[in-house]
Amino acid sequence: MSTSANVRLRNLILPRELAAAVRHRRLVGVILISFPTLKEVNSKRGYETGDWLLEQASIKISEFAKTDECLLRVSGAKFCLILPLLREEAILEMVLARLDDQLSTPYQIAASPLFMPPKLGATYADGLGVEAGDLLNAVEAALRNACDSTKNWTIVETAAAPKELLKDLQSELKSAIEQNKLTLFFQPQVDLVSGQCIGFEALTRWQHLNTYISPDFFIPYAERSELIHQITNWTLHNSLRQLKELDEHYAGDKPLTVSLNVSGRCLDDDFLFRSIHNALAIWNVDPERLIIELTETAFMKDLTSAADACNRLKQQLGVEISLDDFGLGYSGLEILNCVNASELKIDRMFVDKMCSNERSLKIVAGLVKLADSLGMRTVAEGIESPETVSALLDMPAHLGQGFFFSKPLAESQVVAWLENHNHHSNPP
Ligand code: C2E
Ligand code: CA
Ligand code: CA
Repeated sequence: MSTSANVRLRNLILPRELAAAVRHRRLVGVILISFPTLKEVNSKRGYETGDWLLEQASIKISEFAKTDECLLRVSGAKFCLILPLLREEAILEMVLARLDDQLSTPYQIAASPLFMPPKLGATYADGLGVEAGDLLNAVEAALRNACDSTKNWTIVETAAAPKELLKDLQSELKSAIEQNKLTLFFQPQVDLVSGQCIGFEALTRWQHLNTYISPDFFIPYAERSELIHQITNWTLHNSLRQLKELDEHYAGDKPLTVSLNVSGRCLDDDFLFRSIHNALAIWNVDPERLIIELTETAFMKDLTSAADACNRLKQQLGVEISLDDFGLGYSGLEILNCVNASELKIDRMFVDKMCSNERSLKIVAGLVKLADSLGMRTVAEGIESPETVSALLDMPAHLGQGFFFSKPLAESQVVAWLENHNHHSNPP
């Protein structure tokens, strides 16, 4: 593999896709494409024909790759295709069969057909405990298998994290909770028109060996045990405590809100209802100041009962429901139809590409219109540039969140940030 493509794959692309797969309970697929018969073409028909064939093959591969798939040329005659957020292995098999089909069709050169069938190696992983290097080793092994066999493609699954590792992590996480090593960071949410901060999203971090571990990493482990209930309860109490503290130090025009990420597992029984009910009473916070963020995965197992649980939270406790990472999944509209949510958070994948990709811009505009027609407000997440803010204002989306306004803040930084920010923004 060429060094720069390998470095990008290993350090940038695969870690990002693995984290996304863990977060969305999906798989990452990786396909390596090579053309072992190219050597033969070069020696029999000359390098010019070989180069032309390779160029034609690379056009076919780029046409084949969908926009959300990532294609890299890893060396002269080797390509790597990443398939993000795959639902199941069967889809990878389908992709391989189609790719093989297309690349096996003959190329017409001087009216005579010339064949250059591919060899395809593929792997997939669910991301939990898997590193980029594991995927690359597995995909190279799969390609070697294909080259040594009569089949054009083979799949080698990337080994998942050993069970002992999972147990170790769960017990470390358990003692982290007991020793109070979880911390909350707060990311501001801003009214796009007035520029005023209206509230914060609470984001959990695990302080471990002088660093902060991302929730993308540890929440999936917690979700495989009862730990997720403890974490949710801890986050709930600490965000409401922070809200009360802000009330004492900061008097804005409107009471600030706090948004909490809640795992779908917490909707399975009465746990969440009881916890929220108790926490609101203990901290004496108006329920409409608490927003519960749920992603599509929360509704995947049983849409009707998850939707009932959400609607009960809203009707009986008065808290607001927000649909997080909207647009990423397959059944967003079905959820919109069943859940009485007041907020739609447009996933940062679309927001990020808005200014460089016309289709993403149209998708975001369409989601804003859809939310408006259902009486919901929209939050665009992952805003990183002023151009994105002005494009969102044209729609207009209501709220924004992202590094452009602020990275998530430690508890001790929140008041100073608020005073400085609202002082410099322009109320309507
Ligand atoms: P999320 O709910 O989509 O949260 C937003 C994530 O995007 C945060 O990552 C935040 O730091 C990051 N982010 C915000 N603005 C930008 C931006 O402009 N650019 C980029 N590139 N990133 C931005 P974080 O804090 O690592 O959280 C990751 C995910 O972990 C969250 O995604 C949420 O799904 C989950 N999570 C966080 N805290 C909790 C929790 O207490 N419980 C549960 N169940 N999940 C949590
Ligand atoms: Ca969220
Ligand atoms: Ca989100």
